[in-house]
Amino acid sequence: RWRTGKEIRSLFIDFWESKGSKHYPSFSLIPNDPSLLFTIAGMVPFKPYYLGIQQPEFTRAVTSQKCVRTNDIENVGRTARHHTFFEMLGNFSWGDYFKKEAITWGWEFLTEVIGLEPERLYATIYKDDEEAYSVWRNEVGLPENKIYRFDKDENFWFMGNTGPCGPCSEIIYDQGPEFSCGKPTCDVGCNCDRYLEIWNLVFTQFDLQEDGTLVPLPKKNIDTGMGLERLTSIVQRVRTDFETDLFKPLIDHICAMTGVTYGSSPSHNLAVRVIADHIRSVAFMIADGILPANDGRGYVLRRLIRRAARYGKLIGLDRPFLLELFPDVLDLMADPYRELLDNRPMIEQIVSMEEKRFGRTLQQGTELIEQEISRLRLRHVDALSGTIAFELYDTYGFPLELTTEICAENDIKVDEAGFHVEMEKQRERARASSKQLSSEMKGDVYSQIAAEKGQTSFEGYVLSELDTEVVA
Ligand code: ATP
Ligand code: MG
Ligand code: MG
Ligand code: MG
Repeated sequence: RWRTGKEIRSLFIDFWESKGSKHYPSFSLIPNDPSLLFTIAGMVPFKPYYLGIQQPEFTRAVTSQKCVRTNDIENVGRTARHHTFFEMLGNFSWGDYFKKEAITWGWEFLTEVIGLEPERLYATIYKDDEEAYSVWRNEVGLPENKIYRFDKDENFWFMGNTGPCGPCSEIIYDQGPEFSCGKPTCDVGCNCDRYLEIWNLVFTQFDLQEDGTLVPLPKKNIDTGMGLERLTSIVQRVRTDFETDLFKPLIDHICAMTGVTYGSSPSHNLAVRVIADHIRSVAFMIADGILPANDGRGYVLRRLIRRAARYGKLIGLDRPFLLELFPDVLDLMADPYRELLDNRPMIEQIVSMEEKRFGRTLQQGTELIEQEISRLRLRHVDALSGTIAFELYDTYGFPLELTTEICAENDIKVDEAGFHVEMEKQRERARASSKQLSSEMKGDVYSQIAAEKGQTSFEGYVLSELDTEVVA
């Protein structure tokens, strides 16, 4: 049965509430954890419970957690299923229910509440996890040939070099041969979109010691994560997440702005999807108190804005346009994510300023890099120099990743070591004139906006990141 993304989100929360779970609203994208730049999974805000350094108030919980992952940035728009910002539906148990309930209830949710066809579902398990095997085989009744055993690399989860860890079991949905990459080896576990990984169930049952031994935890935990956008794409029977109602208005708007017909070519699709993806990340990041900067989270934000601007340019958008898409993000997401509305003036001003700023140099930078690439081609050289990469960064505001990406599209590498040498020289120069710099820093335009617009949900934003480099 067709359902909206919003309905699916609510159904998940209601279902786990009916199993006695406490529903927490999504936590911030900024984790309370110095080892992580962003909240990358639903369990991140609960890490202290897994580590046993804090006792949970409730032993069962459910969330739809805002997540940002940059490791998937290259996949965004190329696969059907990867985003930089997505929502992870998760249910959690600390010393309470374990494998049997996590698996059978998860199955109940997918097949009975959502109505997925059981014939299309597969499970993967860690190769030695007989307990999980037996639940899948005997409790759920999944045929033996639909339970795949994988190694540590795929189906064992570690938090770090020591500490809580355990086997996991993933639920896969076969979207059918028309989604296959076509390789003869295409099967469950393939990276293409046919065997779509929808849900990861992690059974945190060991404490990894420094010598590598696995000591069973006195209290076993459950941590699961399922992408809302992926599940919605299956329910709505569309080819990619971008065609679900969670994205479609954005896609349509971008197409209307540019005259691009969605589906007309892979490169157009890529550009349209990347823009739709990045505007969501950008809006949510600023709503959680992140400001553009030259390192840390602020740098990721800046990269996303600039990357979106460049993809916009590729499909003919020569003016700032991200701001125009923000109302769509509000329509789609302000319920339940009120922080978008509460911080609306702030988000709009920052996006607009950052777009304008980069807009001034994007054209010139693009010309420089194109010129350079044709020069290298003529000379049969396959690497762009660090000096040029640094000039693009320093003068034209091209993040190194953007330069690398443009070069890669032309089969050219970038001398990154050379880039960092130039960067270091720049730092030396900056240190030499530090007095001047610190007065410039006080005038940092984004902090001023944040102060004026009265950020509501977050205190003490990334000022610390501003005292390291002030380059652009
Ligand atoms: P994939 O193999 O597809 O990259 P993953 O194994 O990296 O996914 P997990 O770390 O297991 O993902 O995260 C749990 C779930 O969160 C996934 O099963 C998927 O439904 C969802 N998910 C993970 N990464 C993304 C992403 N970049 N965009 C959208 N959903 C994601
Ligand atoms: Mg991944
Ligand atoms: Mg995976
Ligand atoms: Mg996974």
